[in-house]
Amino acid sequence: MKNIEMIKEIQQKLGIEVDGLAGPQTWSAIYTHILKKKLPVSPTDQVDERSERVIATLQPEVQIYARALIHKAEEVGIDIKVISGLRTYAEQDKLYAQGRTENIKGGIVTNAKGGQSNHNFGIAFDIGVFEGKEYLEDSPKYKAVGALGMQLGLEWGGNWKTIVDQPHFQLRPLWAKDLSEKEMLAALRERKDKDQAIYT
Ligand SMILES: [Zn+2]
Repeated sequence: MKNIEMIKEIQQKLGIEVDGLAGPQTWSAIYTHILKKKLPVSPTDQVDERSERVIATLQPEVQIYARALIHKAEEVGIDIKVISGLRTYAEQDKLYAQGRTENIKGGIVTNAKGGQSNHNFGIAFDIGVFEGKEYLEDSPKYKAVGALGMQLGLEWGGNWKTIVDQPHFQLRPLWAKDLSEKEMLAALRERKDKDQAIYT
Protein backbone atom coordinates (compact mmCIF):
# COMPACT_ATOMS: atom_id res chain seq x y z
CA MET A 1 0.00 0.00 0.00
CA LYS A 2 1.32 3.42 -0.88
CA ASN A 3 1.91 5.77 2.05
CA ILE A 4 -0.67 8.28 0.96
CA GLU A 5 -3.31 5.55 0.67
CA MET A 6 -2.44 4.20 4.10
CA ILE A 7 -2.75 7.69 5.56
CA LYS A 8 -6.11 8.18 3.83
CA GLU A 9 -7.38 4.86 5.15
CA ILE A 10 -6.33 5.72 8.69
CA GLN A 11 -7.91 9.16 8.43
CA GLN A 12 -11.13 7.53 7.28
CA LYS A 13 -11.09 5.20 10.28
CA LEU A 14 -10.45 8.11 12.63
CA GLY A 15 -13.33 10.09 11.17
CA ILE A 16 -11.16 13.11 10.40
CA GLU A 17 -10.67 14.93 7.11
CA VAL A 18 -9.27 12.61 4.46
CA ASP A 19 -6.50 14.50 2.67
CA GLY A 20 -3.63 12.00 2.74
CA LEU A 21 -1.51 14.47 4.73
CA ALA A 22 -0.61 13.25 8.18
CA GLY A 23 -1.19 15.64 11.08
CA PRO A 24 -0.46 14.68 14.70
CA GLN A 25 -3.69 12.70 15.09
CA THR A 26 -2.95 10.65 11.98
CA TRP A 27 0.68 10.17 12.99
CA SER A 28 -0.44 8.80 16.31
CA ALA A 29 -2.65 6.28 14.53
CA ILE A 30 0.18 5.37 12.15
CA TYR A 31 2.46 4.65 15.10
CA THR A 32 -0.24 2.49 16.63
CA HIS A 33 -0.82 0.74 13.30
CA ILE A 34 2.85 -0.01 12.75
CA LEU A 35 3.64 -1.01 16.34
CA LYS A 36 0.38 -2.99 16.58
CA LYS A 37 -0.17 -1.67 20.08
CA LYS A 38 -1.36 1.48 21.70
CA LEU A 39 1.34 3.80 22.92
CA PRO A 40 1.29 4.57 26.65
CA VAL A 41 1.69 8.24 25.80
CA SER A 42 1.07 10.22 22.66
CA PRO A 43 3.95 10.20 20.15
CA THR A 44 4.30 13.92 20.79
CA ASP A 45 5.95 14.32 24.19
CA GLN A 46 4.12 15.42 27.29
CA VAL A 47 4.21 19.15 27.90
CA ASP A 48 4.31 21.30 31.03
CA GLU A 49 2.28 20.22 34.06
CA ARG A 50 -0.21 23.07 34.00
CA SER A 51 -1.08 22.42 30.35
CA GLU A 52 -1.27 18.66 30.90
CA ARG A 53 -3.87 19.15 33.65
CA VAL A 54 -6.09 21.03 31.20
CA ILE A 55 -5.28 18.76 28.25
CA ALA A 56 -6.48 15.79 30.32
CA THR A 57 -10.02 17.27 30.20
CA LEU A 58 -10.08 17.21 26.37
CA GLN A 59 -11.18 14.47 23.99
CA PRO A 60 -8.23 12.12 23.30
CA GLU A 61 -8.22 13.17 19.63
CA VAL A 62 -7.79 16.82 20.66
CA GLN A 63 -5.13 16.16 23.30
CA ILE A 64 -2.63 15.25 20.59
CA TYR A 65 -3.29 18.49 18.74
CA ALA A 66 -2.94 20.62 21.89
CA ARG A 67 0.46 19.10 22.62
CA ALA A 68 1.52 19.42 19.00
CA LEU A 69 0.59 23.12 19.01
CA ILE A 70 2.73 23.73 22.11
CA HIS A 71 5.67 21.97 20.46
CA LYS A 72 5.19 23.85 17.21
CA ALA A 73 5.10 27.20 19.02
CA GLU A 74 8.20 26.23 21.00
CA GLU A 75 10.03 25.55 17.72
CA VAL A 76 9.56 29.20 16.73
CA GLY A 77 10.44 30.48 20.20
CA ILE A 78 6.91 31.15 21.49
CA ASP A 79 6.01 29.92 24.96
CA ILE A 80 2.35 28.94 25.27
CA LYS A 81 0.33 26.96 27.78
CA VAL A 82 -3.11 25.41 27.46
CA ILE A 83 -5.09 27.30 30.10
CA SER A 84 -8.69 26.28 29.44
CA GLY A 85 -10.28 23.07 28.21
CA LEU A 86 -13.53 21.31 29.00
CA ARG A 87 -16.24 23.39 30.68
CA THR A 88 -19.45 21.96 32.12
CA TYR A 89 -22.76 23.54 31.06
CA ALA A 90 -22.96 25.17 34.51
CA GLU A 91 -19.47 26.65 34.20
CA GLN A 92 -20.40 27.92 30.74
CA ASP A 93 -23.56 29.59 32.13
CA LYS A 94 -21.41 31.32 34.73
CA LEU A 95 -19.12 32.63 32.03
CA TYR A 96 -22.12 33.82 30.00
CA ALA A 97 -23.32 35.82 33.02
CA GLN A 98 -20.03 37.75 33.09
CA GLY A 99 -20.59 41.26 31.81
CA ARG A 100 -24.35 40.67 31.75
CA THR A 101 -25.64 39.98 35.27
CA GLU A 102 -22.27 39.61 37.04
CA ASN A 103 -19.13 41.73 36.90
CA ILE A 104 -20.78 44.12 34.43
CA LYS A 105 -17.66 46.32 34.21
CA GLY A 106 -15.51 43.45 33.00
CA GLY A 107 -17.57 43.23 29.80
CA ILE A 108 -19.10 40.32 27.95
CA VAL A 109 -16.69 37.45 27.32
CA THR A 110 -18.84 34.93 25.47
CA ASN A 111 -22.07 34.65 23.52
CA ALA A 112 -22.44 30.99 24.40
CA LYS A 113 -24.64 29.63 27.18
CA GLY A 114 -24.28 26.10 28.56
CA GLY A 115 -24.31 23.60 25.67
CA GLN A 116 -23.59 26.32 23.10
CA SER A 117 -19.81 26.30 23.31
CA ASN A 118 -17.40 23.82 21.80
CA HIS A 119 -15.68 23.89 25.19
CA ASN A 120 -18.64 21.97 26.63
CA PHE A 121 -17.68 18.90 24.57
CA GLY A 122 -13.92 18.76 25.03
CA ILE A 123 -13.19 19.63 21.42
CA ALA A 124 -11.87 23.16 22.13
CA PHE A 125 -9.09 24.70 24.18
CA ASP A 126 -7.66 28.15 24.91
CA ILE A 127 -3.99 28.97 25.09
CA GLY A 128 -2.07 31.69 26.89
CA VAL A 129 1.14 33.26 25.62
CA PHE A 130 3.85 33.53 28.27
CA GLU A 131 7.12 35.41 28.48
CA GLY A 132 9.07 34.00 31.36
CA LYS A 133 6.48 33.71 34.13
CA GLU A 134 4.36 36.51 32.74
CA TYR A 135 1.05 35.72 31.07
CA LEU A 136 0.34 38.05 28.16
CA GLU A 137 -3.30 38.75 27.52
CA ASP A 138 -2.49 40.67 24.36
CA SER A 139 0.39 39.89 22.09
CA PRO A 140 1.02 39.67 18.34
CA LYS A 141 2.26 36.17 19.14
CA TYR A 142 -1.36 34.97 19.34
CA LYS A 143 -1.69 35.52 15.59
CA ALA A 144 1.47 33.57 14.93
CA VAL A 145 0.18 30.68 17.04
CA GLY A 146 -3.14 30.91 15.19
CA ALA A 147 -1.35 30.30 11.91
CA LEU A 148 0.48 27.31 13.39
CA GLY A 149 -2.79 25.87 14.68
CA MET A 150 -4.41 26.16 11.26
CA GLN A 151 -1.43 24.38 9.72
CA LEU A 152 -2.16 21.49 12.07
CA GLY A 153 -5.78 21.42 10.93
CA LEU A 154 -7.30 23.19 13.93
CA GLU A 155 -9.91 25.90 13.63
CA TRP A 156 -8.81 29.22 15.13
CA GLY A 157 -11.02 31.65 17.06
CA GLY A 158 -9.03 34.54 15.60
CA ASN A 159 -11.00 34.03 12.38
CA TRP A 160 -14.37 34.46 14.06
CA LYS A 161 -16.57 37.38 13.09
CA THR A 162 -18.69 38.03 16.21
CA ILE A 163 -16.34 37.70 19.17
CA VAL A 164 -12.79 37.41 17.87
CA ASP A 165 -11.12 34.92 20.17
CA GLN A 166 -7.41 34.62 19.39
CA PRO A 167 -6.54 32.19 22.23
CA HIS A 168 -9.21 29.70 21.06
CA PHE A 169 -8.65 26.52 19.01
CA GLN A 170 -10.98 23.66 18.18
CA LEU A 171 -10.90 20.40 16.24
CA ARG A 172 -13.93 19.96 14.00
CA PRO A 173 -15.08 16.34 13.59
CA LEU A 174 -15.28 15.07 10.03
CA TRP A 175 -19.04 14.54 10.26
CA ALA A 176 -19.39 18.28 10.95
CA LYS A 177 -17.29 19.30 7.94
CA ASP A 178 -20.16 20.93 6.06
CA LEU A 179 -22.27 21.96 9.07
CA SER A 180 -22.66 25.48 10.39
CA GLU A 181 -21.36 26.11 13.91
CA LYS A 182 -24.96 26.06 15.17
CA GLU A 183 -25.76 22.75 13.48
CA MET A 184 -22.55 21.20 14.76
CA LEU A 185 -23.34 22.29 18.34
CA ALA A 186 -26.84 20.79 18.11
CA ALA A 187 -25.34 17.48 16.96
CA LEU A 188 -22.70 17.64 19.73
CA ARG A 189 -25.42 18.15 22.36
CA GLU A 190 -27.30 15.17 21.02
CA ARG A 191 -24.19 12.96 21.08
CA LYS A 192 -23.41 14.07 24.64
CA ASP A 193 -26.99 13.40 25.78
CA LYS A 194 -26.85 9.93 24.25
CA ASP A 195 -23.35 9.31 25.62
CA GLN A 196 -22.04 8.78 22.09
CA ALA A 197 -18.43 9.28 20.99
CA ILE A 198 -17.72 12.76 19.67
CA TYR A 199 -15.37 11.94 16.79
CA THR A 200 -16.44 8.60 15.36
ZN1 LIG B 1 -12.18 29.04 23.80
